[in-house]
Amino acid sequence: MKTIVLASGNPGKLREFAQILSEFHLEVVPQSQFNVPDVPETGLSFVENALIKARNAAQHTGLPAMSDDSGIEVDALNGAPGIYSARFAGEHATDDDNNALLLEKLKGVPDEQRTARYHCVIVYMQHANDPMPLICQGTWEGQILHEPRGENGFGYDPFFYVPTHHCAAAQLPPDVKNQLSHRGQALRALQAALTTGS
Ligand code: IMP
Repeated sequence: MKTIVLASGNPGKLREFAQILSEFHLEVVPQSQFNVPDVPETGLSFVENALIKARNAAQHTGLPAMSDDSGIEVDALNGAPGIYSARFAGEHATDDDNNALLLEKLKGVPDEQRTARYHCVIVYMQHANDPMPLICQGTWEGQILHEPRGENGFGYDPFFYVPTHHCAAAQLPPDVKNQLSHRGQALRALQAALTTGS
C-alpha cells in the first residue's frame, strides 16, 4: 500500500479524510507524524494554497503528499471569508470566533440572500518538484442559518443549511456529510484520477 503524507493539522479535516479514505487502498499519514512545520498560506486562491501545503509536506518528508485547502464563500459578503475561512476572525481564531463574526456580518440579511457554498481543492503531488500535480475540487451549496444546529462536523457546519436535506451540515451523520460534501466530492475525484493514472 502506498504511503502518502497529508498536509493538514485540522482535526475536523483529518477525521473526514480518514473516514472517506478508509474505502480506498491508501495509507495516509498526517504531516504532524513527520514533524512537518506549517507553511504560510500566501496564495490568493484555494489552488495556490493547496499547492503550497502539499509541496511543503513532500519537501520535508520525501513522500508523495496530499493537501486540502477549503473554505466557505458567502454571497452577501461578496465571497468572504473564502480562502481566509480558517482565520476570518483573526490569525488564531477558533471555530466559535469565526461563526460569531459571520453571524454578526450577516445581521439583518434575509434568508433568500444568505446563500453560500463550501469549496474544497485537493492536491496530490508525487514529489516536491512534481510538474503535473493532480488538482481535484468539489463545491457544496447551502445557506447560512441564524442559529446553530447540530453537533457533528466542524467549522461553519452548525450554520450551514443544506437545502436538499432540510438541516444543517452539523446535523448530518458523518457518512451522509461525506457523501454530499465539497471534500467528499474532491476526494472521490482524486481517487478516480489516481486509479486511471490521469
Ligand atoms: P484551510 O485549513 O486554510 O483550508 O481552512 C479551511 C477552513 O474552512 C476551516 O478551518 C473551516 O473554517 C472552513 N471549512 C472547510 N471545510 C469545512 C467543512 O467541511 N465544514 C466546516 N467548515 C469548513
